[in-house]
Amino acid sequence: MTNPLLAPWATPFGLPPYDRIEDDHWMPAAEAVIAEARAAVEAIAANPEPPSFDNTIAALEMSDEGMGRVFGAFYAVASADSTPARQSLQRDFAPMLSAYTSWVIGNRALFERIDTLWQSRETLDLDPEAARVLMLTHRRFVRAGARLEGAQAERMAEIRARLSVLGTQFSQNLLADEAGWTMQLSPEALASLPAGLRSAAKSAGGENGPVITLSRSLVVPFLQYSPDRALRKKAFEAWTARGMNGGETDNRAIAAETLRLREERAKLLGHGDYAAWKLETDMAGDPQSVRELLHAVWEPARAAAEADAAIYEEMLRADGHEGPLEPWDWRYYAEARRRAEHEIDDGTLKPYLQLDRMIEAAFSVAHRLFGIEAREIEAPLYHPDARAFEITRDGAHLAVFIGDWFARPSKRSGAWCTTMRQQHRMGGQEVRPLVLNVCNFAKPDAGEAALLSFDDARTLFHEFGHALHQMLSDVTWESISGTSVARDFVELPSQLFEHWLEVPQVLREFAIHAETGAPMPEALMEKMLAANFDQGFATVEQTASAIVDLEFHCGPAPADPMQRQAELLEEIRMPRAIAMRHATPHFAHVFSGDGYAAGYYSYLWSEMMDADAFEAFHETGDPFDPDTARRLEAHVLSRGGSEEAGVLYERFRGATPSVEALLKGRGLAA
Ligand SMILES: [Zn+2]
Repeated sequence: MTNPLLAPWATPFGLPPYDRIEDDHWMPAAEAVIAEARAAVEAIAANPEPPSFDNTIAALEMSDEGMGRVFGAFYAVASADSTPARQSLQRDFAPMLSAYTSWVIGNRALFERIDTLWQSRETLDLDPEAARVLMLTHRRFVRAGARLEGAQAERMAEIRARLSVLGTQFSQNLLADEAGWTMQLSPEALASLPAGLRSAAKSAGGENGPVITLSRSLVVPFLQYSPDRALRKKAFEAWTARGMNGGETDNRAIAAETLRLREERAKLLGHGDYAAWKLETDMAGDPQSVRELLHAVWEPARAAAEADAAIYEEMLRADGHEGPLEPWDWRYYAEARRRAEHEIDDGTLKPYLQLDRMIEAAFSVAHRLFGIEAREIEAPLYHPDARAFEITRDGAHLAVFIGDWFARPSKRSGAWCTTMRQQHRMGGQEVRPLVLNVCNFAKPDAGEAALLSFDDARTLFHEFGHALHQMLSDVTWESISGTSVARDFVELPSQLFEHWLEVPQVLREFAIHAETGAPMPEALMEKMLAANFDQGFATVEQTASAIVDLEFHCGPAPADPMQRQAELLEEIRMPRAIAMRHATPHFAHVFSGDGYAAGYYSYLWSEMMDADAFEAFHETGDPFDPDTARRLEAHVLSRGGSEEAGVLYERFRGATPSVEALLKGRGLAA
């Protein structure tokens, strides 16, 4: 029997042959592609020719093509449709991959070739993109410890291996805690909820009757709508206890060990702490710049939230409840106030925000801006809910876009964009990307239209913005293509794309009532768009998480992260009725891997730019201004990480904007 992963993929557009892949194909394929990559790297290191860009840097870029293919296919399915077998593979792959990385980084002969090229870079006559790839490759090796020797190099490899095991365990524990909890709804509890939520609760419970699960798209609306304070408390406590329920799935010790090892790694590399090491390559550059941003946002947000809390506490009293406003009350009273003051609620909006129409809206906006077209295609995918589209421009193939929008217990929570293949043209051959958007929208009962909240629709647009960054990529080298940019720049395309969901002409065309087919009434639309609502809350929960993440990685690692978290929240005077958007035991951004470690602030950093970037369209009087769209694509969306983020942005827009744009956008400016 041949392993379909190792045979040529005779599928449309080279998609992974999911219809023929069995779980026991993954391990032999993983072993084979790692061995293949090792052999390629060995050949580079042993090359008797003196090092050149082609025989070293370019060869290295192409050495792990097979790994990209197999692991790209694996991690897409492992995150979106996990099974015990796939979880076990993830646990096995983590140390294999980190051992491979350690072996590459520790290969002296290889690093000497890279270092020689770097030292002689002025004489190599490289084009700017190649020069950038040389710089990034050299930097990546140095930052991973290529200059360490002996016991220090060994310790670095141990730390890398252990961190990858911890990150995998952290996500799997979280998934287990999320999948392991449901709350049955009585007929009365169900009847008190709006129709869309009733249907989602029924669909989630199946034949066992309606339930609330810990999926954000169910538990958040439940907290908004359920008048039953005791049930809200129960749901909220379960939701915020993810990863801290004791026993085998508890993440607290994992978080502590992770922080300790990150600090040790940074010290081995000669940095004072992890944040200093991590932020060195981001736009922010150092912890102090991040701290300044977060504190500039924090105080106005906290003041706005405290003013709102006073209003909600009055409402709580009027309902005859004792005691202070609690975190499980906030969303409920905010929603009640929104209904009262703005005569608008998610239940009224939702029928106008159909998933299928919102997908069309995202495609339509991208068509108007960048001329791309989307056409649904038949393709072997890993789950029946996932859908594939061919993306073309002027008839030419651009990418395959896969949308996997519905929640299920086998999917990790949140929403993300990933690729099974990135754009590049190494070796002179144009390779176009396979891009995946994964969300967790509540799945409706069979035969009913899937309806979104405005937040869900925003998430859909957000992830599609990341997808565009991949699909419009136009560079030579894979390591700098698409979203391979500084972490605090990567949210610019995604957050920018969200703005088009608020363009009235888009809503007029696509916000169509699921039953009547009528467009959203203008008055409702105006209210929805005017409601810069509860931004104190949203900003506080997000900024608190960013502050805790940053401070965890500054100075000595906390022995007890939960205690340190409590101290930090105390220091910033966290409003008592608001919880962190992600508390430590379920802060997957920070602990499932280190991508967003000391980097959760990135969303806010990018937000300084997205408001300003959208303003560039506004200034022309046309939200689809072709010339501005062309410049956005030419200087940002197509360029990947081919230059420093600040340079790309300034070429599009002039200067880098300040925090004022962010505060203004959130209605928090003084
Ligand atoms: Zn994002």
